Amino acid sequence: MAVKRDYYEVLGVSRDASDEDIKKAFRRLAFQCHPDRNREDGAAARFKEVNEAYEVLSDADKRAAYDHYGHGGAEGFFGRGFEGFDFGGFGDIFEAFFGGGTTAARRAAQRGTDLRGNVTISFEEAALGCEKKVKISRTETCSTCQGSGAKPGTQPSRCPNCNGTGQVRRVQKSLFGRFINTAICNQCHGEGTVITEPCRDCRGTGLQRHKRTLSVEIPAGVDSNSGIRLSGAGDAGVRGGSPGDLYVMISVQEHDFFTRDGDNVLYELPINFTQAALGAEMEVPTLRGTRRIDIPPGSQTGRVFRLRDEGIAHLHRGGRGDHLVRVSVVTPGLLTKEQRQLFEELAETLGTGKG
Ligand code: ZN
Repeated sequence: MAVKRDYYEVLGVSRDASDEDIKKAFRRLAFQCHPDRNREDGAAARFKEVNEAYEVLSDADKRAAYDHYGHGGAEGFFGRGFEGFDFGGFGDIFEAFFGGGTTAARRAAQRGTDLRGNVTISFEEAALGCEKKVKISRTETCSTCQGSGAKPGTQPSRCPNCNGTGQVRRVQKSLFGRFINTAICNQCHGEGTVITEPCRDCRGTGLQRHKRTLSVEIPAGVDSNSGIRLSGAGDAGVRGGSPGDLYVMISVQEHDFFTRDGDNVLYELPINFTQAALGAEMEVPTLRGTRRIDIPPGSQTGRVFRLRDEGIAHLHRGGRGDHLVRVSVVTPGLLTKEQRQLFEELAETLGTGKG
């Protein structure tokens, strides 16, 4: 395959030429070397060259592709192999442009990995919300080289293997003609540049690993197995990619005497015989301090008293569950002599004495 001339050079315009300049240059040159008019040797080839250059430079997208990727870009992207089929190039460049796939000719920007952290919180912290610290180890952009991987004061240099294009092209002859195979340069892995003097602090990777302690705002109402996403707090992106996220997984400890049912808190209140029979005013613990409840006379085990809106906050939607107090009548164990006598008298009146 003949070495292709630079399209700007073909049209005799500068790289920042306006569309109008390009059009003018093309008209002039096309007129000069049109095969109908010009019978000189090479005029036809020149005419073809001028057309090709104009076709690319007159189209904003194609011109941008050419500016970025050179001939490989303009041809590969648009699938035009001028000397046969252009296998490989199309898909690679296409993906490099639109970010699809993993085989981009130049390794595309890569998003950082999502990380996972864990925090354990108390029952009250889950119910009321809290701020917690989470410890993680993550990669960050190297602060010494700002992620370039090159030792400060040095620049990555143009890859000598692919001459900065990131691709190597091989022409293969076959029965059907010449095939042009485009492959990612194995020296710079498609970057087009190689680091000659790597940054010492990151050994040329552009990334450093750090242990970090981050604050996490935990909203009221979370439960075990809830996760909180901290956008951008994961591993650093590669080649300008955005950082990953951090997912903080929550586990909630059990409470000594509260249990959870959805956003309601259940509390079991032991009362004795006389409180159950005669009624009583009792103090009960809740998430937000003690509250008084009236136990009416004749309350049985299992009776539930509801303290509205004293339960767990509804996650992300305002309002709260209730605090449910379930009484349980405790039969007295050992009785004093005096108590025993009173119970016996009581038994008489209830007609349930042993006789
Ligand atoms: Zn570095």
